[in-house]
Amino acid sequence: MAAAIVATDLEKTYGETVALAGASLSVERGEVFALIGPNGAGKTTLVRALTGTTDPDGGSAQIFGESPTAVDRDRIGVLPQEFSPPGRLSARELLAYYAGLYDDARDSDDVLAAVGLVDAGGTWYRDLSGGQQRRVCVGSALVNDPDLLFLDEPTTGIDPAGRRTVWRLIEELADGGTTVVLTTHDMAEAERLADRVGLLADGRLVAQGSPEELVREHGGSSRLTIETAASLEAFADLGYLVERPERDRGRNPENAVVVRDIEPVEIGVVVDYLEAHTLEYTELSWSEPDLEDVYLTLADAAERERTDRLEGGDGGVDEGTLTQTGETA
Ligand code: ADP
Repeated sequence: MAAAIVATDLEKTYGETVALAGASLSVERGEVFALIGPNGAGKTTLVRALTGTTDPDGGSAQIFGESPTAVDRDRIGVLPQEFSPPGRLSARELLAYYAGLYDDARDSDDVLAAVGLVDAGGTWYRDLSGGQQRRVCVGSALVNDPDLLFLDEPTTGIDPAGRRTVWRLIEELADGGTTVVLTTHDMAEAERLADRVGLLADGRLVAQGSPEELVREHGGSSRLTIETAASLEAFADLGYLVERPERDRGRNPENAVVVRDIEPVEIGVVVDYLEAHTLEYTELSWSEPDLEDVYLTLADAAERERTDRLEGGDGGVDEGTLTQTGETA
């Protein structure tokens, strides 16, 4: 039986911008595959190439063994990133409207229940909260009970409770055998939902694997974060690698240091050191590497490679095309 998706060397250029530069992936039936990567990496373009809404310039894609434009539309559900249904239809009416596009659609009330919106079924779309609106949109991609569901940033803009409803919904669909491809900037979402994760950078899949595999290969070591105003030099005699936290970890790097590659049983050594050197601290927290570390490591490496290519002026890619894609998440 053919895989749900096989894409080989997909290329897509918009004017001078290279959106896909040879993207390859395959997704098995029943898998949940999360595409992650910086803004501008090509995630939406890849989803569009796989759903037949954009024509790649090179490479090939097959969905259930057929071209994306030839595959039976009843088998595919798509939630585009930008999707604004008419505001003056109720949630129920909207789902009924989308259901009407298919010969054999699910009952709209079942879909409303699946996305947790039974109570809001009669409310105009424009009067729903942002999270409820996104859940109606997710529901609209489910009306045809698809075998393969593409969700481009399904939970962006949804509050934590709404996000969990969508997560549970995706888990239920996956348990029922639906193949799901989703894009996300939320690493917790990818880690929780995905059987496999693909990291897209500069139009290529630079790593693919289960979250555990990716963390093992690229996540680095466990760490102890110390909230302290002390300088890095104050830790010179600790006997561990100590550095400032990465910029994207949501704290001021000047107010924390990170001790690398340290097991929980060794934390006492650090506490003794802090006390012996009268170094003040407000908090100690130990953590294992996670998908966010993988993301930061690989996205940084891709960014450095891109800069090197630009500075070197080689790599077979027109320099002018690369200046357009440098936005990072
Ligand atoms: P992502 O979804 O990872 O943020 P996109 O696939 O949206 O990335 O975009 C990849 C690159 O292609 C970006 O530089 C974007 O500006 C460009 N791009 C995408 N779609 C178009 C389009 N229709 N016209 C021109 N440029 C586009």
